[in-house]
Amino acid sequence: MKESLAKELAVLRQMGIEPGLDIVRVGARPDDLAYEQGALRRFDGLGIAARVFAFPEDISQEDFTAEFRKINDSGSVRGILLFRPLPKHLDGDSIGDMIRPAKDIDCMSPFNAAKVFLEGGKGGFAPCTPAAVMEILAHYGVDLAGKNVVVVGRSPVVGRPLAMLMLARNATVTVCHTKTQNLEEICKNADIVVAAAGRPKTITPACVSPKSIVVDVGINADENGKLCGDADYGAILPIVSMISPVPGGVGAVTTSILAAHVLRAANKLAEA
Ligand code: NAP
Repeated sequence: MKESLAKELAVLRQMGIEPGLDIVRVGARPDDLAYEQGALRRFDGLGIAARVFAFPEDISQEDFTAEFRKINDSGSVRGILLFRPLPKHLDGDSIGDMIRPAKDIDCMSPFNAAKVFLEGGKGGFAPCTPAAVMEILAHYGVDLAGKNVVVVGRSPVVGRPLAMLMLARNATVTVCHTKTQNLEEICKNADIVVAAAGRPKTITPACVSPKSIVVDVGINADENGKLCGDADYGAILPIVSMISPVPGGVGAVTTSILAAHVLRAANKLAEA
C-alpha cells in the first residue's frame, strides 16, 4: 500500500494537486491521541501534509460548529478526519450533516453512509477501519463469497458498516453485541470472526476452530497496561488458520487506508 500510495501521490503532484489531511479533535482522549500520532507518523513518512485542529473538551456547540464550518468550507483539497465519539454535549449528527461528502474521508456524512449501506461503499468513502479489514482479507486472498462471517460489535463506526461491506462481497453476515446469546458457539461456527467489541479476551479459544480466520479490530490495554486486541491472541494463535495481531494489524492498515482516502479526496475536490 505504501508503494502504491507514493506512486499515486507523485501523479497528483504532477497534476498540480497537493493533498492534505485536517484532523479535528475535541479534548484529548488517549485512543484519539494514539490514532493521531500513528496517522501523523504515517503521513510524515509518505510526505503528505497533515495538521491537527485541537479544541478544548468544553467547547460550546456554537463555537465548535463555527470552527468546523471554517475547515469544511475552506477551498482546499484536504480531507477531514473528525475523532468520534464527540463529548456528550456536542451534536455529532449535525456535524455529519454539514461535512462536505468529498472531504468526508471517514464516512461521517449520511451521503457516504448511504453509499456503504446501499452499494458497499462504491463511489463514496467507507469508514477507514472497516475498509482496512476488507483490505487485509483481500490481500491474503480470502474470498468472502458464501462465507459465514461473524462481526462482534455493532457500533456505527466499525461493526455496522463492516457488516454492510461484507454483505456487498456476498458473505453471510451475523452481527453480535452485548445481548447476543451463545457468542462462543456462533463464532466457532463461522469461517471468519471480526472482533470489534473493545474488550480484551472477548474472543477465546472456545470461539474458534482450525478453519477460523480472526481479524482483530480491538485496541485495548490488558491488565498490565499493555496494548492488546479483543482476541486472546496467544491462546488462539495455535488453533486458528489466520489471525491478525494487535498492534501491527488493523490499526496499521487503517492509517494507510486513511492516506488512500486523502489522495482520492484531493483528486475529487480538484475535479469539482
Ligand atoms: P464501541 O462503540 O464501544 O462498540 C463496541 C461494540 O461491541 C458494541 O456494539 C457492543 O455491544 C459490542 N460489545 C462489547 N462487548 C461485547 C461482548 N462482550 N460481546 C459481544 N459484543 C460486545 O466501540 P467501537 O468504536 O466500535 O470500537 C471497537 C474496538 O475497536 C475498540 O477497541 C476500539 O478502540 C477499536 N478501534 C480500532 C480501530 C483501528 O483502526 N484498529 C478503529 C476504531 C476503533 P452493544 O451495542 O450491545 O453495546
